[in-house]
Amino acid sequence: MVPFPRSPGRVLRFCLLLLWFGASASAAPTLSEARWRALRTAADPARLYTLLYALPKGGDLHNHLAGSNLPEWLYACGTDPARNGGDVFYVRARFASPPGAIDPAQRFATIRRYQYEALPPADRAEFVPLAELTPAERQIWLDGLRLDQPGEGRKEFFNVIWARFIPLWRNPVVRLELLAENLKAYGAEGMVYLETQFDLNGLADNDGAPIAPEAALPALRALLARPDVVASGVTPRFQVTVLRFAPDAEDKLAEAFAWVDAHRDLWVAINMAGIEEDGFGYPLRFLEKFRELRARYPEIKLSIHAGEMDGPDHHIRDTLLLGATRIGHGVNLLKDPDTLLLLQGGERAYVEVNLISNRLLQYTPDLSRHPFPEFLRTGVPCGLNTDDRGMWDSNLTDEYYTAVTLFNLSWVELTGLARSSLRHGFLEAETKEKLLADYENRLARFESRLAEGTPTEALDRLAAATRPVTYGYARRNWGLAFPAAP
Ligand SMILES: [Zn+2]
Repeated sequence: MVPFPRSPGRVLRFCLLLLWFGASASAAPTLSEARWRALRTAADPARLYTLLYALPKGGDLHNHLAGSNLPEWLYACGTDPARNGGDVFYVRARFASPPGAIDPAQRFATIRRYQYEALPPADRAEFVPLAELTPAERQIWLDGLRLDQPGEGRKEFFNVIWARFIPLWRNPVVRLELLAENLKAYGAEGMVYLETQFDLNGLADNDGAPIAPEAALPALRALLARPDVVASGVTPRFQVTVLRFAPDAEDKLAEAFAWVDAHRDLWVAINMAGIEEDGFGYPLRFLEKFRELRARYPEIKLSIHAGEMDGPDHHIRDTLLLGATRIGHGVNLLKDPDTLLLLQGGERAYVEVNLISNRLLQYTPDLSRHPFPEFLRTGVPCGLNTDDRGMWDSNLTDEYYTAVTLFNLSWVELTGLARSSLRHGFLEAETKEKLLADYENRLARFESRLAEGTPTEALDRLAAATRPVTYGYARRNWGLAFPAAP
């Protein structure tokens, strides 16, 4: 016990002492910026990548699960009966007509057995079972599901890639297996929360009979309780996403409200995605509908894609008016200064930044001109996310590596990203507090590992204990390949 002092000077010193004790007991030890700079100077690209892979991370808040599957995972599930419920997939890989005469989305497109069996014999002749593709055909199939070539951009992404694999995604066993695969891969790179755009709509059994979302729910709950999935360490929560340009988008929005309201333990928000332009997908189209639905349901959080556009507009402002508290992308925010001012220094909305997506879909082909550092350093709450990482052939570490190398993030900026992502997740408060507390503990341990010995020794130690995994994006753009080829 500390005896209480009697003279005023002693009282002041005593209070300062207590403050000091209090501060040192509650604040997490922080790596100094000087040490972070020394580590960066000592690290070659592979060591820096390894450090960022091992870095404790928070959540990925902007993620489309259907677009997050590495083509190799799709292949593995598509060819393993134990992971696809005994279905068989066929690929249109051998063509009767010249390649130019076939819609690109139909080249190396995948269908399910029931669809194959319904084809006329002449059409069937163009298809090969996925497992029987030649090595060269398999490579074309894999590459056809990612943006890996110069010149592939928005058109390839929106009009071609999705159409090629959606039948695989309608298989309920495959869909759940891919969710598990994502959780494990994200857990391996230090992430603890995935708020993904994922639902149980559009499923069909191996005979093509539709499966109602409610009927698929027990299998989802069983998957989330599976020991290997729990061991990933990643807490998943879901959003229902409505395609904003669809003629019946208002009806879909009403269905989304009903679903989320009835399944609030797993589904935490509604999103709207798809092209904002062209006269159909603009935000204000939905204002009346949102107001009508808000009058019927207790609060449902909204994260809505907005400002994923080339030119200036007021879509982000209009999306705030819809009630969104998270904005997906926000690429053109700097072109709407009034809305930028509204978001700076406040908690009105969080911007979900997706650097690699914005580059590959050519919204910011030169990432050094991306507005992210302006958001980060002028007080717009924001964080890094993966969007459709399967199609970019990348992971969350690639986003961090991009930000650190292009924008020279300080240690406080870098580690604040994870904290901020957890704070802005839509998950229930109790779990959020736990994840935030865990994050501070994990970060403190990580910092003490980085602080020990010379910078080179610390990096060597970390490299010996970390097994990073990279995909094609890191290889193509930075020459980084983990695990290293034997
Ligand atoms: Zn998105």
